[in-house]
Amino acid sequence: NKKIVVVGGVGGGASAAARARRLDESAEVTMYEKGPDVSFSNCSLPYHLSGLIPDANSIILKTPEQFKKQYNIQAEVNSEVVDIDSKQKTVQVKDTQTGALRTVNYDELILSPGAKPVMPQIIKGIDNKNVFSIRNVVDIKRIQKYLVDNDVTDVAVIGGGFIGLEVIENLGQTGKNLTLIEMADHVLGTIDDDFAQLVHKNLYDNDVNVILEDGLVEVDDDQIRLVSGKTIKAQAVIMAIGVTPDIALAAKAGCKIGVTGGIEVNQQYETSIPDIYAVGDAIEVTNMLTRQKTRLALAYPAQMEARDAVDHIYGRPIQNKGVIGSQVIHLFDLNVASTGLTEAACEENQIEHRAVTVIPQNRVSVMPDTSPIFLKLVFGYPSGEILGAQAIGKSGVDKQIDVIATMISMHGHIDDLTHLELCYSPWFSTAKNAVNIAALVAENILNDEYQQVSISKVRSLVEKGAFIIDAREPNEYAAGHITTSVNIPLSQFRQRLDEIPTDRPVYIHCQSSQRSYNMVRALDNLGYKNITNISGSYLELMQYE
Ligand code: FAD
Repeated sequence: NKKIVVVGGVGGGASAAARARRLDESAEVTMYEKGPDVSFSNCSLPYHLSGLIPDANSIILKTPEQFKKQYNIQAEVNSEVVDIDSKQKTVQVKDTQTGALRTVNYDELILSPGAKPVMPQIIKGIDNKNVFSIRNVVDIKRIQKYLVDNDVTDVAVIGGGFIGLEVIENLGQTGKNLTLIEMADHVLGTIDDDFAQLVHKNLYDNDVNVILEDGLVEVDDDQIRLVSGKTIKAQAVIMAIGVTPDIALAAKAGCKIGVTGGIEVNQQYETSIPDIYAVGDAIEVTNMLTRQKTRLALAYPAQMEARDAVDHIYGRPIQNKGVIGSQVIHLFDLNVASTGLTEAACEENQIEHRAVTVIPQNRVSVMPDTSPIFLKLVFGYPSGEILGAQAIGKSGVDKQIDVIATMISMHGHIDDLTHLELCYSPWFSTAKNAVNIAALVAENILNDEYQQVSISKVRSLVEKGAFIIDAREPNEYAAGHITTSVNIPLSQFRQRLDEIPTDRPVYIHCQSSQRSYNMVRALDNLGYKNITNISGSYLELMQYE
């Protein structure tokens, strides 16, 4: 009987053990977890802070007893694998409560030790009792207890990635004063700067004090100090500035470590040592689009890699296309989803690309509770290969992003999206789905049918004294407009053509770039030269007023 030993009992580890049992009833499967729990939903941890998940123990999906009973898997908690002898094919397991050591042999060893929160020791007071990070159920219980026992009113969250934002959202519902500190110039590195502004506004609207381009240097009992010298009131600090792969055990055993600092694996998740596999947050993966090595600390890859590694052990063919990085978060009343490459990532990787932003409604506008979907589609130029997308809205933007993620993983092109037949009724979307609309605009760009410029360039256009037409109705213009813009509504421009100059470039914008697009096309057809649509909307943010 094959003896399979798994290190780590959560995302990848529990998936690997369960898959092994599904493929081989006679295998001896043992899973070692150094913490007190196995198989918990890490991703649900922040929701205990708001009380949405009142009982932290319910985050544990399966106990060792259930693993034994249902799957005949030996799940040993408080058991840390501290050493691997790859020649003898044994591991040394330490009982974390007694310190006792024992040696266990394996035929196949699967490492899924995950990643550790980054806690820079250079920060003064980082080890204080009011500084926390979140990795497991013990952590979340500890934070909750501290906040309650100490009547904490002010919390600083360091790091504006998805974990930091989820913590902010959940603590935001408890009425605490929250400060979010992010070192970059915008939160969520998975979306571009222009889309991040929507997230920033959402945070401000929910009374979060957002501080960008600043970092933590010192923690005290009731305040923190930042690189800029600012001090912020905070009796508790939650660190969420990223994770680092937990490679110590693998490195000690002699497994090669990759260029990104994760455990190096081949296509089948084999490490450089025979019969030792590695999966999950601890490994280095390949980005399907850039072909560059990268790390992706997300639950789906961890679980699929685990399944694939076990399939390979049992001689089943697996396909490893690399990762694209799809994710979604809920933030107060907004959902933010993304997949593939951002414009910034394209630039970093010197990939020639274009991007379009459309802002259709989530359902037909006569229906109740319509709200805009901000959708950006990034594509190769001139190839038209779909490279990435970002979507923000009150509705389930995960649909748009999942459709585009599917296309990306099938190496789809813009014309695959323009003619993609998706389900429709007024409750769910517009007849042409947001995805179709974005692709149609992209097709126009690929066909050189008209010119566009991103809203992020509006400031420099104004500074250069460019002629900007605001194509909205006068009442919309009166409510707020670009100071130098001229209001020529789409509904009037045919009678006011003499106001549109022919001797200089003209830029047109509106609320969602749809009316401006129609005016651009009409002027092009009327023989005007040098007419440019402003893609996206300068007034995007006002949608959420
Ligand atoms: P883990 O699930 O972390 O498991 C590793 C386990 O190995 C740990 O329990 C550790 O104690 C144990 N271990 C380490 N070394 C040893 C050793 N030597 N011996 C024994 N045991 C050891 N992903 C998403 O896709 N969507 C989300 O919404 C999302 N939200 C998240 C929210 C939070 C707060 C956190 C922390 C993570 C979130 N993730 C999310 C990420 C996701 O949980 C991870 O990508 C996934 O769990 C990785 O699985 P893993 O097996 O590599 O690591």
